[in-house]
Amino acid sequence: MTVRRKIPATLIPGDGIGPEIVAAVVKILAAAGAPFEWERQEGGMGAVKKHGDPLPPRLLESIRKTGLALKGPLTTPVGGGFRSVNVRLREEFGLYANVRPVRTLVPGGRYEDIDIVLVRENLEGLYLAWEHYLAIGDDPRAVAISSGVNTRAECRRIAEFAFDYAVKNRRRKVTIVHKANVLKALTGVFLETAREVGKKYAKKLEIDDRIVDACAMQLVLDPWQFDVIVTTNLFGDILSDEMAGLVGGLGMAPGANIGPKAAIFEAVHGSAPDIAGKGIANPLALLLAACLMLEHVGRKQIAADIRGATDRVLREDQVRTKDLGGKATTAQFTQAIVQRLK
Ligand code: NAD
Repeated sequence: MTVRRKIPATLIPGDGIGPEIVAAVVKILAAAGAPFEWERQEGGMGAVKKHGDPLPPRLLESIRKTGLALKGPLTTPVGGGFRSVNVRLREEFGLYANVRPVRTLVPGGRYEDIDIVLVRENLEGLYLAWEHYLAIGDDPRAVAISSGVNTRAECRRIAEFAFDYAVKNRRRKVTIVHKANVLKALTGVFLETAREVGKKYAKKLEIDDRIVDACAMQLVLDPWQFDVIVTTNLFGDILSDEMAGLVGGLGMAPGANIGPKAAIFEAVHGSAPDIAGKGIANPLALLLAACLMLEHVGRKQIAADIRGATDRVLREDQVRTKDLGGKATTAQFTQAIVQRLK
């Protein structure tokens, strides 16, 4: 028998439904024999109360050490207050690529057989949030200004990531999504650079491009035409939520934030304060993120076992949480997957 080494990883339960879904996922990972040795760290609103900072130094230190984290959602107050904790984390660790795959898991929804991966640039664009107001008369906020920044170097890096990802994962096509007809500089540089990088991959992949508004409509009319989408930060944020809607909602969409020195895995959804503490949250998006994490560290079989067990629970046992039209609580759904892993 070979003894596989343990892999240290940071675990952030987060806010709202975070602790509930993180507990569920940790239980399933343990049942599947996942190798992670968790360093549990507080972040988000809980950490603000205790440490005065949603990203306390010890959390950052832990990720710096492990280079690997599974993260529950973190609440960001709208408007004033703290800068988005998620954006800060991406910047702190240079997590330039955000990979968001969606796949049909529950049959009988609006769309069958969806399988699309969105690769989102994670550090630039309008997410830099260089924003300010100009005063006119007695209105201090009469004009709101925001500057977006896209650098050719970062456009090249994300395009190369997306094309490499497509080749490695045996995908057939990459669609570059932009708005270069209006934002000619900001997203023009993205389109131009991605097309240029794409030339190297022309023999291996079909490559096309689409304006973001047309892409949003076509995702609804004929999503099967898409395979891998690569796009800028804000468009990626919006389109990935739309894509989650194609497969049953936010409870189904995982995300991986990848950088040269660290990778953080999370659900696409937020802390869902409306259902926090009710025991009904769907842990699937975070579980699928944990599968991406297992694949990232080369433990593909364990990820496949979890995906297989989940498939059987959803399709054969028909155990589903409320957001998927079922009646199961988080605990019942989790137990059903654990049972299928035995
Ligand atoms: P949300 O994603 O938390 O919730 C949107 C809707 O989807 C809600 O009705 C919610 O109940 C439902 N939902 C979300 N996840 C679910 C799940 N696992 N199971 C069942 N239903 C689920 O979006 P929001 O309400 O706009 O944001 C709440 C907070 O989360 C905000 O502070 C926001 O900044 C933060 N947020 C964090 C992240 C992150 O940590 N990566 C991502 C998005 C939003």
